[in-house]
Amino acid sequence: MAHSRGWEEVGDRVFVRRYEFFDQNIGVVLGRDAALVIDTRTTYRQAREILDDLRELTLAPVEVVVDTHGHYDHAYGNRIFRPATIWGHVGCRPFMERTGDARRERIISELPDLADDIGEVEIDPPDKSFDERAVVEVGDRQVELRFLGRGHTDHDAVVLVPGTGVVFAGDLLEEGAVPSFGDSFPLDWPATVGALAPLVDGIAIPGHGDPGGPDWVREQAKELRAVADLGRRIAAGELDLDDAVGLTPYPAYPAEDVRRPLKRAAAHARRELTEAVSS
Ligand SMILES: [Zn+2]
Repeated sequence: MAHSRGWEEVGDRVFVRRYEFFDQNIGVVLGRDAALVIDTRTTYRQAREILDDLRELTLAPVEVVVDTHGHYDHAYGNRIFRPATIWGHVGCRPFMERTGDARRERIISELPDLADDIGEVEIDPPDKSFDERAVVEVGDRQVELRFLGRGHTDHDAVVLVPGTGVVFAGDLLEEGAVPSFGDSFPLDWPATVGALAPLVDGIAIPGHGDPGGPDWVREQAKELRAVADLGRRIAAGELDLDDAVGLTPYPAYPAEDVRRPLKRAAAHARRELTEAVSS
């Protein structure tokens, strides 16, 4: 797998750079005399690295940032991009305000190498938000933001770059690892990626890992559907968690990585059952 291979132009003046840390994709859309950056990474140091690398493409200022969601590896570098306007789904700011301080403490304990860097981060959530759809100007071109439903989080923003066939999907799509279910809505996620698939007529950029085309996106929806279905069967008492592990679409990954998604899917399915009974 190629890392740190520089900017790759995936559409007309649309670029992706793959950072080794978390195998993360950062997107850039260039308009006339302005740049838009998609996701800002984990620390100020990492965010500044984006700005430095950007100089290979343009000297224009970053006027717009889009946070695909409020997780630390996507949005904790925000502050470095000010005074840029930062966009996120309407759920992004409250998520970051609710979780920011606790998450920062958790990262400090889980990733001690980052302790100093993450310690200086001030949570700086998006100042512009949208519900379903927004059109954002960057220089002479427009970029479309969409919310397609709950999935990896309750506020995943998808970025469409009209005329290029490029879609930035954030962590709604994940390549090279089991998708991250920690804040997810496992029962909604398949339909959300199902709604994303017809919007991809070229290349879909996941938050982490290799990009893919429409077939890959449909395949991801199918895998997520399988996890949701297994969660429902566990919740219904038809299946043990341990037996379900072997039935997931992730045979190549460690069982522990697969148990977490199943547990969360089962918990949400149990809640759904309880709500169905009580209503
Ligand atoms: Zn995430």
